[in-house]
Amino acid sequence: MAGDAHPPVEVLLGLGANLGDPRAQLARAVDALHEFVTGLQASSIYRTEPVGHRDQPDFYNQVVRGTTTLSPGALLDRVLAVEEEMGRRRTFRNAPRVIDIDILAYGDEVIRTERLTVPHPGIAERGFVLHPLAEVAPGWRHPERMQTAREMLSAAALERVEKI
Ligand code: ATP
Ligand code: CA
Ligand code: CA
Repeated sequence: MAGDAHPPVEVLLGLGANLGDPRAQLARAVDALHEFVTGLQASSIYRTEPVGHRDQPDFYNQVVRGTTTLSPGALLDRVLAVEEEMGRRRTFRNAPRVIDIDILAYGDEVIRTERLTVPHPGIAERGFVLHPLAEVAPGWRHPERMQTAREMLSAAALERVEKI
C-alpha cells in the first residue's frame, strides 16, 4: 500500500510460541518477517515456564531487531497476518499459541491507540522479553522509562528463563 510508505525506522519485535514445534515456528516467523523487516538480527531462544494458565507447555521466546518502512498500523497488520497464516487462533488470555508476535518498540515512538500500545506494556516486567532484548539491543532506551534494556534487566525481579 503506497499510503503506508514511511521513513525507515528501527523496530524490536518479541516472538513467542508454545504449541507444536515452537523452535521451528519461531524460525518460520523470522523467515516471514524478512518480507517487511530488513537487516534482521535475532536473539537466542529462551525457554520459560508458563504464567497464568500453568497447565500448558513451556514457552519459547526470542526478540528480533531490524528496520522497516511500514507505518506502525501497517506493521501490526503484517505481524497479525503472519500469526494468522501460521494458524494462530485467539481463545483466552495467556492461552497456548503457535506463534505470538508483539511490537516491542517502533523507533522511539510512544503510541497509544485502540489497537496499539508501543512500547509494549509488558517489557519491563517480563524476563522472557528482557533477556533476549538485552542480547540484541542492550543500549535501546525505553522512551517513557528512560532506562536501557540492560538497565531494565538488572533492575527487575524476573521469572526464571533458560537460554537454549
Ligand atoms: P500481551 O500483549 O500481554 O503479550 P498477547 O500477546 O497474548 O498479550 P494478543 O492476543 O496477541 O495478546 O494481542 C491482542 C491485541 O493486542 C492485538 O490484536 C493488537 O491489536 C493489540 N496490541 C496492542 N499493542 C500491541 C503491540 N505493541 N504489539 C502487538 N499487538 C498489540
Ligand atoms: Ca505477547
Ligand atoms: Ca500479541
